[in-house]
Order: sequence, then structure tokens, then C-alpha cells
Amino acid sequence: MASHIVGYPRMGPKRELKFALESFWDGKSSAEDLQKVSADLRSSIWKQMSGAGIKYIPSNTFSYYDQVLDTTALLGAVPSRYNWTGGEIGFDTYFSMARGNASVPAMEMTKWFDTNYHFIVPELGPDTKFTYASHKAVTEYKEAKALGVDTVPVLVGPVSYLLLSKPAKGVEKSFSPLSLLGKILPIYKEVVAELKAAGASWIQFDEPTLVKDLDSHQLQAFTQAYTELEATLSGLNVLIETYFADVPAEAYKTITSLKVVTGFGFDLVRGAKTLDLIKGGFPSGKYLFAGLVDGRNIWANDLAASLSTLQALQGIVGKDKLVVSTSSSLLHTAVDLVNETKLDDEIKSWMAFAAQKVVEVNALAKALAGQKDEVFFSANAAAQASRKSSPRVNNKAVQKAAAALKGSDHRRSTNVSARLDAQQKKLNLPILPTTTIGSFPQTADLRRVRREYKAKKISEDNYVSAIKEEISKVVKLQEELDIDVLVHGEPERNDMVEYFGEQLSGFAFTANGWVQSYGSRCVKPPVIYGDVSRPKAMTVFWSSMAQSMTARPMKGMLTGPVTILNWSFVRNDQPRSETCYQIALAIKDEVEDLEKAGITVIQIDEAALREGLPLRKSEEAFYLEWAVHSFRITNVGVQDTTQIHTHMCYSNFNDIIHSIIDMDADVITIENSRSDEKLLSVFREGVKYGAGIGPGVYDIHSPRIPSTEEIADRINKMLAVLETNILWVNPDCGLKTRKYAEVKPALTAMVEAAKLLRTEL
Ligand code: GLN
Ligand code: ZN
Repeated sequence: MASHIVGYPRMGPKRELKFALESFWDGKSSAEDLQKVSADLRSSIWKQMSGAGIKYIPSNTFSYYDQVLDTTALLGAVPSRYNWTGGEIGFDTYFSMARGNASVPAMEMTKWFDTNYHFIVPELGPDTKFTYASHKAVTEYKEAKALGVDTVPVLVGPVSYLLLSKPAKGVEKSFSPLSLLGKILPIYKEVVAELKAAGASWIQFDEPTLVKDLDSHQLQAFTQAYTELEATLSGLNVLIETYFADVPAEAYKTITSLKVVTGFGFDLVRGAKTLDLIKGGFPSGKYLFAGLVDGRNIWANDLAASLSTLQALQGIVGKDKLVVSTSSSLLHTAVDLVNETKLDDEIKSWMAFAAQKVVEVNALAKALAGQKDEVFFSANAAAQASRKSSPRVNNKAVQKAAAALKGSDHRRSTNVSARLDAQQKKLNLPILPTTTIGSFPQTADLRRVRREYKAKKISEDNYVSAIKEEISKVVKLQEELDIDVLVHGEPERNDMVEYFGEQLSGFAFTANGWVQSYGSRCVKPPVIYGDVSRPKAMTVFWSSMAQSMTARPMKGMLTGPVTILNWSFVRNDQPRSETCYQIALAIKDEVEDLEKAGITVIQIDEAALREGLPLRKSEEAFYLEWAVHSFRITNVGVQDTTQIHTHMCYSNFNDIIHSIIDMDADVITIENSRSDEKLLSVFREGVKYGAGIGPGVYDIHSPRIPSTEEIADRINKMLAVLETNILWVNPDCGLKTRKYAEVKPALTAMVEAAKLLRTEL
């Protein structure tokens, strides 16, 4: 019985690759240093997998930046602005595409399916020339072989590559990159031939787009591609790997009809429906790579349950054709539980990071072959049982309260325009009121104070007075700038989710549970392991302190339930919606405590609401329904005069605008300035919008300081499509990554622009 791993994290257990990359980019170390760190990481991963007994070990899943960019390099599809002159693509060209250089900006980056990983979007046009320009796949295969490990080289499949590409600048928007299939296949043939010559016996094509809603033309491309590659692939075993969701029936039919393909990898964690398709018919003589160990989460596998699924599958595909695998690449989970020294043993017994998942995959394969490691299995069963019954996980009162929310509707009883009137009587704001999104610059001093307090190196008194001083500075600055609705600046927060997670029960935090987000950047998501509740108020102390420093309204600042959910590792023992409702109830308590403390404007950030959208259209409505409901629950209990704001970090609204309206916030501030006013087009097309709205008037992601005129110009464009009395003036997002030297002049220009326009209206 065989075992397989789809892919493995590249960063290293202690983010070794991150530090090597950043030091190289800063000119502090050489290319050889970076190559050495990388080779060591690859070698330790291969040895670890082969030591664990894995049969099909992947290679070419390492990357200096991103596997899609690696494919762009393989194909020599370098956009002309990087002035690449041919030959093997080196670090210079590669990192220029990834990060830009002094004279040219980087290529665009976008989310990899519904993960928090971001890939570099290929830019293609009818004139793009393809040449075999990166031999990385072959080099890595040989490198592993020299270490005594025969691997399965992994390539991003040709159809997924094209479906994830966009038309290059200057190329018609209607251009379909898929039309280039015939031009990239010759390069795939070259690399496949070389891999074959080097001794590879298997090759894995990742074709994750197969889980999306594809039309028949797109599906047809898979048939075309793999039929055309047939001759080159003959003599090789070919695995088509899919992940992140179930494969629609049509797609399943398409790929299982491909003669040249010998193995199919399916995500059986997120794709329960695929299991039915397999049961309904699987091509005889082919391999099934059963993805039962979750690549997207940090929980230990329920080995007994997986084993019984495997036994059922064995009856369908045959004993020698079933391969135990991960549901996706392990890139999307944390690296090694061994480095978690702060988590207690009980919680640790419930978890498995990438290194532990490799062991699980192998244990399942062996058990299926009749060599069950009883000790390992019974320890796993005991951990599963303890997790199920633990009082740390179960809170009956919370479960009951959350269950009661389902199926009912929660809305503020007064409609938004009447609420806005009541609020205006109380707040008495000018037209085009100005505000900011929450955070002010996070200085090194501030970070040090927080760190020292956490490490108990400074007393609580010292900590409170340091933060108080910072808040007071931020309040004074905003008064000087003459901003209308103030914020306290969030100096006490390291991160908008972690800050709340640390104060809620049901959350745990890892020391090294990093997951690659893009390039060298990693995130360390909190772990939601139990029913969520709020032992005590979380933000009231700081918000009321800040409010006491000014006569102007001070916004209470909270992170919303959907964002907390989407940016955490979540429970797999109950639906996401259930967990979201529980968080919503905790935030609801906080909202009401803020109101009691005299805070009249409360912002509940839902920066990540859109990120949770499922991969398939048919599942969108359900997600949006419970996500939006959860948001409304947080503020359903406040008075009409309490103004609820929300904030979102993207302007791609067109498809979900009705859900956003349905959130029923009084004011929404949104990112806008980087998007060519895509957002405004929604309103131009006649969507009725009656709540307050603040499309960002300048980009906070850039150090560039906007002028008064350009901001005024932007506001004027907004006024052309939105009513004067609902428009707010604010930046795109929080200011925490900027310097005061940028923030002061930018906000000065923003307030000036608002004032200028007020005189004209
Ligand atoms: N209130 C948060 C801040 O200003 C919002 C951050 C975000 O939208 N990502 O930092
Ligand atoms: Zn934002």
C-alpha cells in the first residue's frame, strides 16, 4: 500500500527560507548563501519523507517565491518590461518579476484559490514567446536522486496555468490565455522528456482549476493538452492532482477518460461529493490518490475514520491501486509541531502539522497493508476522544446560544435612513465627514513596549501609561488635523485578529505555526479549538480612555466575526457557520459594553469577508447568508443613535454588493483607490445605496503623499454617483505600516480636500 504527499512547506520549521531571502534581497548575503539554505531545506524535507516511509515524494514543490512564477520562468514567459534577453532565468529576472526593481513594478499577485497563499499572475498575450528557460524541475529531481531519493517531480499543469493567467497590459481584455495552449505544450514536452531521461518514473501535474466551475470549452482543453502530451508521456506514470474542493461530475468524467493519465489525486476532506463519484465509477487499472489527510488545517487526522474510508475505496479501485495522500499540498499548514513548546500536551495531542501529517499518511498506508501500528492508532483514538469530550472544547451555554441563532433573522428594527437621522442629531457632523480606519503608525518603540509587557519585563502600570501616552498623541494629532470622527490608533494591538483571539476562550496560539502568504511573508493564524466565549470586556478600557481625551466622537474598534474566522485555523468538528455564530455572540457582548461605556460610533471590521467566498458559485449564497447574518448579530442590540461602521479591504464588490447592503451597517469604509474606481461603477450602474459610505480617497499601501487637488478630484468623482449626505472621506485602510512623515501630510491634504468641497456644495 503506497503513500504520497502532494507538496510540502518551503519556509522551513523556523522560517529559514524567509530570513535567507530577505537577507539576500537586502544585499547582506550572497546568492550562494541563499542557494545553500534552500538546498539544505529541500534535502531535509526529502530525507524526512523517505525516512517516514513515504513512497511518492514530491520534488519541485520548493520555490524561491511561488510555484506559478516558477512555471512562468519554465516557459520563458517573462513580460517584456523586465528586459530579459534569453538564456536560463536567474535571480535577477525572477525576483524582478516577483517584487519589481528600481525601475519596473512587480507583476500582480492574487489569492491562490480560497487559501491565504498568493501567486504571481502570469501576463500573456497573442505575441508571448515561449522558450524552455528554467530547468529547475529537472535540477531538483536530480538533486534528490543524488541524495538517494527518487521523487515525483511536480509541475503546475498546462491548463491550470493558462486558466490562472491574465491578458498582458495592452492586450485586449477579451483575450483568452487558454488559446495559447498549443504554444506552451512544446515546452512541457521538453521538460517532461528531460525528466524522463533523468530517470523519473512518475510525474505529477497539479490541475486544481478542475474543482472550479469550468465550461465545456475549458474542460475540452484538458483533453486536448493531455492527448497532445501522450507520446512524450508514454512510459511515464502520470498523476493529475486536484485539490481544495470536490471535482464536479463533468470534470471528473473528462479527466478519468484520459488514456495517458495513470493516477488521479482528489481532495477527500473538502470534497466529500467526489467520494460518491468514485463510488459511482472509477477507471479500471488506474491509481486513486486518496487525499484524506487535511493539508489546510492543523488537526490530527481521525485515523480510524480514514482507515474505514480507505477500506471502502480499496473495494472499488483494488488493493494495489490505492494510494494514501494529503488533501492538498501541505504548504497551507504549519510546519512542525515539535517546535511548539508553549502549547500544552493535551492541545498538542489534538494537532498535526506538516511533519506529523507525513507520519499519519504513512501510518494509514501501512495499516491498510495489514501492518497497523496499534500503539500509534490507539494514541490517535484517545486524542480524538479527549478532544470530543474535553470541557475546554465544549461550552454548553455557548452551543445553545449559537444554535438558537440559526434559521432566524436578526436586524436592527429601525431602517438605516431613520437611524442615520437619529445619529446625525446626536453627532452633529459636517457633510463629507472625515475619519480614518483605525490604526496609526506602529513605531519600533511601540512594538518594544508590547513585547516587554508580554515578556513581563515591564509592569502593567508602565505598560498602561506608555499606551495611554501614545493614544493621547494620536488623539491630539487628529484634533490638530481637524478630523471629525477619531480613532485611538490601536497601539495595544499587534494584529487585528490575534488581539481578540488572545482575549477570547476557545483560541490557542502557536509559537512557530507560520504559513506562507506570499514570497517571504508568512502569517501565524490563531487556532480556534473550542466553543468561543468572551470572559470579559476586551476593548472598553482603551476606548473609553481615548473617548475621555476628546469631545469629538471616538470610534470603538473591533474585528468582526467573519474576519476572525477566515484568518484563523478553524475547528473541523463543526461547520464554519457554527463557529462564526459563536464569535458573533462574543463580539455582540463587546459592542453592547462599548455602547454602555458611552461610545457612540463603533467600527466592526470585516476586512476578510470576501476571502471566505467558496470556490463554486453554487455554494456562495449559503456562505454569504450566514456570514452577513453573523455580522448583523454583533450589532442588532444597539440603539438607533449608536452608529455602526464596518470596513473592508477590497473594492471588488460588484458581485457581492447586495450582501454588503444586507449587512445593514450605518457606514461602510472601503478600499477603493487602487482599483480604477471599479467600486463606483457598481453605483453608476444603478445599485441603490442609502447607508453612509467612505470609498478610500488615497492608497495607504504606498509611501506616496497625495495632493489636496487629487483627493478633491477623487471625491468629486464619487459625488457624481453617490448622494452628498452619505459620503465619508477617509483613507483606504489602516495606517499602521506607514510613517508619521507620510501620514501627517497625507491626512492634512485629505481634510483640506473635504473642507474645500464643503464650501462648494
Ligand atoms: N482597523 C484596522 C486598522 O486600521 C483595519 C485593518 C484592515 O482592514 N486590514 O489597522
Ligand atoms: Zn483595510
